[in-house]
Amino acid sequence: MTPYTLIIITIVALISTSCSSTKILVAMNKSTDRFIVLESDKRILYERGAKADAKTIAKKLDTAIESVEKKQYKKFTKPVTVYICDSIKSFTSYCVYSQASGCVLNERLFLSPKNFQADRQALTHELSHLHIEQQLGMFTWHSGYPAWFQEGLATYVSDGEGANTVSPDEARKAIIDGKTFTPNISGSLIFKKTAHSFGLTPNMFYRQASMFVKYLHDIDKVKFKTFLLSVESGKNFDKSFSLVYGNSIKEVWNEFIQDQRKLRYFRIGYATNFKLIKGNSMSRKCQISGKGPMTGNNVSHAQNKTKRRFLPNLRTVRITLEDGTKKKIKVSAKELRTMRKKANQ
Ligand SMILES: [Zn+2]
Repeated sequence: MTPYTLIIITIVALISTSCSSTKILVAMNKSTDRFIVLESDKRILYERGAKADAKTIAKKLDTAIESVEKKQYKKFTKPVTVYICDSIKSFTSYCVYSQASGCVLNERLFLSPKNFQADRQALTHELSHLHIEQQLGMFTWHSGYPAWFQEGLATYVSDGEGANTVSPDEARKAIIDGKTFTPNISGSLIFKKTAHSFGLTPNMFYRQASMFVKYLHDIDKVKFKTFLLSVESGKNFDKSFSLVYGNSIKEVWNEFIQDQRKLRYFRIGYATNFKLIKGNSMSRKCQISGKGPMTGNNVSHAQNKTKRRFLPNLRTVRITLEDGTKKKIKVSAKELRTMRKKANQ
């Protein structure tokens, strides 16, 4: 690459980012004076054409607030206001991204007509964002915390809203095939690593992220609560994580992937497109955990050490895949125990 092309790339990058940040700046300060207060529920404001949608939200608001407060372990720290837009154009002027069905920007929650056209439940998802933005402020929440966590949490709290087109099974297959994200630590307001940074569709990214958040919750509910409260109090994301889980995010992420493998391959009748990891029946590797031979020492009485190999205790099992085909695979005795347990559940 010549210095000349490098300069051009830099200029293009600067222009495009300053452009989107200008849009965000304008949107976050745009006046909401034109919104009308809903008579029956003053927390809801709507644009002229969105009165019916405002009434729909009035019926759902209390339940949605309650479920966010329960799953994020804290009451909302400020009053909740929901703005209902009557056109995608108006929504985009407050939220920048026209494809979204809702957004929280600068501690204000907007819903797009899209949310109502497709009978979506963006309300709970967006309330999850608002809940933490109220506590940390928009800049801290976005610059200190990664998108996979923000979106994963909101999607998990709203029972999958934001990931509607991708099932957990599809997401699991993609994760095992390596079509997934890297749970990076920091966030950034402008250079945020989100779906497209990892070559994923937003729905796929949200689904995978929410499965990881659910995993963090399910492996230890007490730890998850401690971690989330630590994040909500504004403590460093990475430090809070390792302090609570006793491991780095990367290590827990790897355990999560292992767990997805087991879920996919070991629930009989669950897996499709099963692939042998090493395709070779002579392999000395467990095809689920990837556990293979290890080297160590034979130690004689006189403490003389000679090299030896420790082989995993492998068993051959036949599993039935979703399409009815049967496969023989080799698994370690330990994995086989887990498999039996899962099959009996
Ligand atoms: Zn979101």
